[in-house]
Amino acid sequence: MTTERLYDYYRENPVISTDTRNISPGCIFFALKGDLFNANEFAAQAIEKGAAYAVVDEEKYATNNQCLLVEDVLSTLQDLARHHRKQLNIPVIGLTGSNGKTTSKELVNAVLAERYKTFATFGNLNNHIGVPLSILSITGEVQIAVIEMGANHQKEIELLCTIAQPTHGIITNVGMAHLDGFGGFDGVKKGKAELYAYLKETHGYTFINRDNPYLLEMSTAAGLNKLIYYGTENGNTIKGELKSSDPFIEVDWTNHDVSSSVKTNLTGSYNFENILAAICIGDFFDMNPEEINTGLANYQPKNNRSQLTKTEKNTVICDFYNANPSSMTAALKNIAVLSADKKTAILGDMFELGPESHGQHELIAKQANESGLDEIIFIGKDFYSFKDNFKGTFFESPAEAAAYLQENPVQDHLVLLKGSRGMKLESLLQYL
Ligand code: ATP
Ligand code: MG
Repeated sequence: MTTERLYDYYRENPVISTDTRNISPGCIFFALKGDLFNANEFAAQAIEKGAAYAVVDEEKYATNNQCLLVEDVLSTLQDLARHHRKQLNIPVIGLTGSNGKTTSKELVNAVLAERYKTFATFGNLNNHIGVPLSILSITGEVQIAVIEMGANHQKEIELLCTIAQPTHGIITNVGMAHLDGFGGFDGVKKGKAELYAYLKETHGYTFINRDNPYLLEMSTAAGLNKLIYYGTENGNTIKGELKSSDPFIEVDWTNHDVSSSVKTNLTGSYNFENILAAICIGDFFDMNPEEINTGLANYQPKNNRSQLTKTEKNTVICDFYNANPSSMTAALKNIAVLSADKKTAILGDMFELGPESHGQHELIAKQANESGLDEIIFIGKDFYSFKDNFKGTFFESPAEAAAYLQENPVQDHLVLLKGSRGMKLESLLQYL
């Protein structure tokens, strides 16, 4: 078995697996390694379960001629994805940013799917493994692909660009996320700008929110010239206005000559820019306003991002998929302007902030205190350290907060539930 043979085999049988619980007959099994596992150990089992080949990088597991022994399984997976991408003669939209990537990806896909056969990253599979797996899932009939690219350190977007080879790109925004890995906010800008650098080099198109000064500064620094602008001012290809955000987002928008209006099922005024991005991309790909608006109006968030849910007792803004200081600020600004008799915020710690963590938690606690809320519950060790400085009820863990909520039920409130993924705040939904 050679790498060339692997490529040939994949062309005829394009099914990949990285998990022995999920083997379909004839697939290629990639034995990846993680911090806690070494899938080389499962290569034989994958073949027993029907995998045609297993790609391994430890000699002792290359036990028969269905095993391909390579230097590094992950790089082989990435190389296969690069090879596959080259065969696909389609536009690929590379999408990154500190916040709103998945939401924007879903919205762009919802719009484009009204006209085209599309592929979009499943869920949040946006890293050095997820991007190659996404690319390898693109089949021959797909006309446009939307690929989410996530990063928490320098050079990651650069690597993902070599795999996804985007012909079009968008940075949703740059903010206070993954400050630890990137080395502060300047590091975030530098890391995300790797997408602009790639698009400059390959003469790709870039969609830019002209209301965002950081993105403008980064695009100028990168020397980009194939730019398509969206924003709230005249002179943009797509000009939009936030018509309502209470509780759902409605947008009035104009392209070159036609004015139009759309009602979405998304809550959170920050989604205005995600929606404009999707409109701009749909318009660029020759879609008419009816198609664009239909795609947006029919999109129902189901992923615990900006999802408004009515429970038996309350209305809950389920935004607990993730959090960082920028998205917390956006979510607090949003609940502050929504109409409701009573409002509660339940906020969990924000992770991966490095040395800035303490200060950023303090800023958010302060902002929460100034957001006109009736009740604030802070959860996690970082927020807990401010229990004597701010108003609110403080708990070190979600379990303690759960016990409190059982004894002191929140009723008939608009509740914002938000924290980092690791806080698992979904465990509290049953008490709301
Ligand atoms: P991840 O890094 O987890 O992949 P993401 O960039 O894909 O995150 P989403 O999952 O779309 O982002 O949204 C996560 C949260 O970020 C949302 O629930 C919302 O609170 C916030 N958010 C979404 N869009 C924006 C935006 N444009 N500006 C600020 N915050 C936003
Ligand atoms: Mg995401």
